Amino acid sequence: MKRVYNFSAGPSMLPLPVMERASAEMMCCGDSGMSVMEMSHRSPEFEQIIAEAEERLRRLLSIPENYKVMFLQGGASTQFAAVPLNLMRNGKADYVVTGQFSNKAYKEAQKFGDVKLVASSADRNHTYIPFIDRSMIRPDADYVHICFNNTIYGTKYNYIPDTGDIPLVADFSSCALSEPLDVSKFGVLYAGAQKNIAPAGLTIVIVREDLIGFAPANIPVMLDYKSLSENNSMYNTPPCYPIYIAKLVFEWIETQMGGLEGMKAYNQKKCKVLYDYLDSQDYYTAPAEKEFRSMMNVPFVTGNADLDKLFAKTAGENGFKNIKGHRSVGGMRASIYNAMPIEGVEKLVEFMKDFAVKNPK
Ligand SMILES: *Cc1c(COP(=O)(O)O)cnc(C)c1O
Repeated sequence: MKRVYNFSAGPSMLPLPVMERASAEMMCCGDSGMSVMEMSHRSPEFEQIIAEAEERLRRLLSIPENYKVMFLQGGASTQFAAVPLNLMRNGKADYVVTGQFSNKAYKEAQKFGDVKLVASSADRNHTYIPFIDRSMIRPDADYVHICFNNTIYGTKYNYIPDTGDIPLVADFSSCALSEPLDVSKFGVLYAGAQKNIAPAGLTIVIVREDLIGFAPANIPVMLDYKSLSENNSMYNTPPCYPIYIAKLVFEWIETQMGGLEGMKAYNQKKCKVLYDYLDSQDYYTAPAEKEFRSMMNVPFVTGNADLDKLFAKTAGENGFKNIKGHRSVGGMRASIYNAMPIEGVEKLVEFMKDFAVKNPK
């Protein structure tokens, strides 16, 4: 078996020890005599898996008592609608657009109420994060929505906007569990799990309790934070297997990576290898502004579309997979989530040096 370095933006690499454990437990998990994939979600065995997943996630992120944790389906994109449906009491929300996903969230919310764009980074092709403060937010807005890490453009907030009493809602799909985060600063945090947590099919939603219970009566029950949280994510069949893998990933971060502090140190060291190289030469350019650089997604270009294409192709042939940039940015993007080992980044940099020598501009 030869495993490649997979730089995909998502679904993406999972930690090898997690997959080895899942593989060992594939046919028979514990004493259950069956695979987690075959278990009833109402069985004591699965109840224990989901309870442990929640417990570990709460410990990792130090989630305060007054927050609910939900393991749902539908991806982060379903939350683009669920958030306005659940949180718009006055029918007003303020949005910050810093890339494609926050723009999608902004557009979806417009179906449900009066939505204001408070700031956007579109003027400089989403290479930075605008500064947001209370004065920009409508005092009667029900919430402010941001996307904390911009997967396509490779930027991340280097601060948590102060929205005063107005709940801050953040899509943290592509940076979840990459470092510690003060959950108490947010009203809602949500993430599609396929970037940094588990296989596709699981969405994690963390909601402050006092925001639950104000949805209109005609909200679909599968979007209603009240019914979903009251039923402990089991109003219907939850995505059982991705929840089990998420539990293993949480355990891996806690016991093998030193928790989120350890994870952050590792991620900083890892992305530094790539950014230091990018800053040391002029063959490749990284468009994101330095102070807003993401630890997880690193876009870069050669400035020549043909060379970019050749790079992605040659990289793929050399075991560096899925490094082609998003079609809206072009060039390359190395997504280096938690599970990417530092050797993968070191070897990528060696490959980049070699490619630059062999393909002069
Ligand atoms: C990938 C991604 C999404 C879309 O997630 P789905 O789970 O596919 O709906 C939304 N937001 C961000 C920041 C992402 O990276």
